Amino acid sequence: MNGRKLGASGLTVSEIALGNWITHGAQVNNETANACVHAALDAGITTFDTADVYSETRAETVLGQALKGIRRESIELCTKVYHPTGTGHNDRGLSRKHMMEACHASLKRLQTDYIDVYYAHRFDPTVSLDETFLAFSDLVRQGKVLYVGVSEWTADQITKGAALAQELRVPLVSSQPQYSMLWRVIEDEVIPACQREGIGQVVWSPLAQGILSGKYAPDKPLPLGSRASTSAGAPFFERLAGQWLRTDVLLAVSKLSSVALEVGLTLPQLAIAWVLQNPHVSAAIIGASKPEQVQENVKGAGVRLELEVMKQIDTILDSLVERDPAKTG
Ligand code: NDP
Repeated sequence: MNGRKLGASGLTVSEIALGNWITHGAQVNNETANACVHAALDAGITTFDTADVYSETRAETVLGQALKGIRRESIELCTKVYHPTGTGHNDRGLSRKHMMEACHASLKRLQTDYIDVYYAHRFDPTVSLDETFLAFSDLVRQGKVLYVGVSEWTADQITKGAALAQELRVPLVSSQPQYSMLWRVIEDEVIPACQREGIGQVVWSPLAQGILSGKYAPDKPLPLGSRASTSAGAPFFERLAGQWLRTDVLLAVSKLSSVALEVGLTLPQLAIAWVLQNPHVSAAIIGASKPEQVQENVKGAGVRLELEVMKQIDTILDSLVERDPAKTG
């Protein structure tokens, strides 16, 4: 597994990171979660992504336990703040109060003294950027956070945040957007803005939540145990990937399988390799409900796809690709 620098920072992340949204603490039991984390470590993955809100905070706890005994210096632990973690009016958002409290709670659940990259999980229009970045700055000065990131912020929000980050000497080094062969909304605005600021992309759902694994076939029942079919996964799948569960998309995806075969990859490997062809992408965060998926998907790293193959993919997907920057966030 190769590493890539996270934007213009000195931090190296593994090209493929393992995330635990929906899976740990919800869709899969702790034994499977542990097996997935260890399959990732065995494959050379060093970067792990979670969030306080995942599985109502259980995901951080499960990840903290799974990583117990692993040399802290050998991994990069990333988590996020913003979405509600309680019912109180301050249990959410990017206020100084919630960010400080959320960070302390994440550190406890992850059983660590510091977070490598701490993300603002969304933009918070109800709090001034000054307040948010001062809180980030203090967490960094306290040594509880090493680097800072934002997730699903627009180009304009990122540019404004970067100006404050520079003023306060906050290492804002990462953007975490959705990016896949089907969802390319960051290409026109977010990536150029981040490039100007030295911010790297750590992208989520490179398989469009499993659609790009090819297992969802047109006119067939949902595969048993798949994210779309389980109570833990279905609501999230429906909201963010439901749009792709239609015949034209699924037929196009099945055509991509032949492209994958031609280049000696499986379809999930091709989808991950595609994301990693973009030089602005520092890492692709994969999810897994089984260790075998991790073992298969890591082979999408370190692959060079010829221009001809990239063109074939574009021809097959054509108008099915979402590119509208207004869909960010
Ligand atoms: P993917 O697009 O990689 O989807 C992962 C899911 O696809 C797996 O859980 C599995 O689901 C299925 N899958 C994976 N590999 C295979 C395979 N080889 N064959 C068949 N099915 C496969 O990523 P996620 O949507 O899970 O997102 C990854 C991470 O990104 C999250 O864990 C989180 O850390 C981060 N994220 C960040 C967000 C943000 O707002 N910042 C939002 C969403 C995610 P199953 O087997 O259950 O069908």
